Amino acid sequence: EPSSLSGLPAGVGEALEAEGVAELYPPQQAAVEAGVVDGESLVAAVPTASGKTLIAELAMLSSIERGGKALYIVPLRALASEKKAEFERWEEFGVTVGVSTGNYDSDGEWLASRDIIVATSEKVDSLIRNGAPWIDDLTCVVSDEVHLVDDSHRGPTLEVTLAKLRKVNPGLQTVALSATVGNADVIADWLDAELVESDWRPIELRTGVHFGNAINFDDGSQREVPVERGEDQTAKLVADALDTEEDGQGGSSLVFVNSRRNAESSARKLGEVTAPRLTGDERDRLRELAEEIRGVSDTDTSEDLADAVEQGSAFHHAGLASEHRSLIEDAFRDRLIKCVSATPTLAAGVNTPARRVIVRDWRRYDGEFGGMQPLDVLEIHQMCGRAGRPGLDPYGEAVLLANSADTREELFDRYVWAEAEPVRSKLAAEPALRTHVLATVASGFAATRDGLLSFLDNTLYATQTDDEGRLAAVTDTVLDYLEVNGFVDRDRDGGSEGLAATGIGHTVSRLYLDPMSAAEILDGLRTVAGGADDEGAESGEFVPADGADAGADPDADEPGFTTYTREGDEGSDSGVEAAESEGDSPAVTPLGLYHLVSRTPDTYELYLKSGDREEYTEVCYEREAEFLGDVPSEYEDVRFEDWLAALKTARLLEDWANEVDEDRIAERYGVGPGDIRGKVDTAEWLLRAAETLARDVEGIDGDVVVQVREARKRLEYGVREELLDLAGVRNVGRKRARRLYEAGIESRADLREADKAVVLGALRGRERTAERVLENAGREDPSLDGVDPDRSASAAAT
Ligand code: ADP
Repeated sequence: EPSSLSGLPAGVGEALEAEGVAELYPPQQAAVEAGVVDGESLVAAVPTASGKTLIAELAMLSSIERGGKALYIVPLRALASEKKAEFERWEEFGVTVGVSTGNYDSDGEWLASRDIIVATSEKVDSLIRNGAPWIDDLTCVVSDEVHLVDDSHRGPTLEVTLAKLRKVNPGLQTVALSATVGNADVIADWLDAELVESDWRPIELRTGVHFGNAINFDDGSQREVPVERGEDQTAKLVADALDTEEDGQGGSSLVFVNSRRNAESSARKLGEVTAPRLTGDERDRLRELAEEIRGVSDTDTSEDLADAVEQGSAFHHAGLASEHRSLIEDAFRDRLIKCVSATPTLAAGVNTPARRVIVRDWRRYDGEFGGMQPLDVLEIHQMCGRAGRPGLDPYGEAVLLANSADTREELFDRYVWAEAEPVRSKLAAEPALRTHVLATVASGFAATRDGLLSFLDNTLYATQTDDEGRLAAVTDTVLDYLEVNGFVDRDRDGGSEGLAATGIGHTVSRLYLDPMSAAEILDGLRTVAGGADDEGAESGEFVPADGADAGADPDADEPGFTTYTREGDEGSDSGVEAAESEGDSPAVTPLGLYHLVSRTPDTYELYLKSGDREEYTEVCYEREAEFLGDVPSEYEDVRFEDWLAALKTARLLEDWANEVDEDRIAERYGVGPGDIRGKVDTAEWLLRAAETLARDVEGIDGDVVVQVREARKRLEYGVREELLDLAGVRNVGRKRARRLYEAGIESRADLREADKAVVLGALRGRERTAERVLENAGREDPSLDGVDPDRSASAAAT
């Protein structure tokens, strides 16, 4: 019984019982026996929904009870707030919780007072780089979804971060939660941890393949779901689950497809299945939910989502705004939405179980290898693991779809009977080591080459490899790069080669920039300094980044699918505002700066689709004077393509800063509103970093700093220059700022003086909004009492 657990804050055991945890699940019991409440390190490799979180909570709470402090590392930002909300129920037992999000360049000092801190691995990495004082106080660290060390893009950060935390705190309890993978023992070995490995699940999961008229399950059973010629397999399976009542309830389904566009069209189609099965009450509640969805943003995606939701069906993918995502997840958990069509991002962690999981697509377009490639076993298993809601469903069912008997056999072999792949460290690659070697040296984890190599010996890579020389070889290549670019100094005299970060190297590390991004940015900004003939400029010190990451990043977001169509030329009027600066420096324009940050490896460029190459080649020559740095020759195929992809991204940013409608941008670039937000956020962060770099190094023109700041502010608010002041007023935003401006109110000061009727008219008669805006602009009497709304309309019209 949980209440008999010792070592936890008083009352926790009883509280667990009150939540319905009558006894520990077998893997939890095994974790306790392995010492998880006594400070032992542990790797728990168990299926989804088998209570991994409670294992982590037992570890953290007992550690805190002994006077310690815990860190919970999540793989996704969206999960950070979910976990924080979950852990906050311990506040009544005196345990405080904080979540660290936001900028990568702060040290999060306020977190020092929290008992549990939740953060992504990138955030923890940056907190270490910025010298967060409480890192030394940690006694327990939890790594959720640790199998993601296998991810070539984000895995190395998790790996190095865990190595650093363990180095700083030699007695640190490390609890790693993993899906069932092929080699959990190797992870345990790396972390010097006990291993709890189990296939146990709280509710039965049956996995099967549908072909023809039935699902064949792995336990040998069959379920008839006849599909006639011309009928849709997925629709029939969703209907079948809904029509099968268990405890008086039909079952909901989660459908996994391979692209956003497919998720959206699947949701639309499946609405025809769910709509006729709704009760009147559900229909009312769904209509309200749809209104809420429309209220989040005024885009096509928002509209399409709301339309589907009214039918009881929804889609879910990384292009959605985060408010949309959580509305959908909550309503699906509440069984109001009957079916969600999702891309695999939903399988990665968010807690949204369904009675039936349907894996419609088991292949996905792969930009790196080309063509359709089968998904990893681990990924399919994670999706299937979403089937069955403990306490709600008597069982869970995962169904893959086959269109022939041969495919059915293939799917059984490839996925149903197969074990998940072993995880493999991706650390020994230049892009990963470039950033982590600099940070390791800058944060004082190594002061010599030998020290660096022995630090790297604490990584999973070192545990796994049989090629001892490889890590050292890549490290040396990276050290050369960092030295040539002026980020580290090397002292080759004496026994072991000495290493130290330079001033700018420290800055780059703290800013959380890939050193290659920093080099590219500095190089670009230096071209403005007119410094080519300036004796002081040490421009020779900076080698241009060589585009090693050229080409679209397959790990980036999934490709969008709408092809770009050429339309009016909104946005191209921004042109070069006459080269004001004297001499031979190019004029700095927002587009030039947006392109500069878009071509760094810290930005995922947009994909070039068919037709884009011609389109952007043309733009490239039209606006050549604005680029900071030399345009690569068209004959350098890869570099030139990369340049154009960055240009497409920069144009998206420019459109945003020119007040082009979100919908228009979404259509023009084939992206969702969530992507626009993502690109804008990244560019803002990089421009902020560029501003700091420009201030810190010599040889960069002071005016450039001002222009960088303004280009960033325009992104922040999504407005042209003349609206910056107005858009900075809370509750105003880009559209309202434009309407106010057109009504003659051009600044914050104007807002304080203006005729209230005009303000009200410009804000379309919304009184509450108008009052709030006036108040936020600092008006003494923001009240609109006595203002005539009719007069306001005519006032605004003039
Ligand atoms: P995982 O992290 O392994 O995916 P969760 O920790 O989210 O799984 O657990 C799934 C659900 O099971 C949660 O709702 C949790 O409250 C519940 N749960 C966990 N342990 C127990 C237990 N011992 N008894 C009853 N319910 C439990």
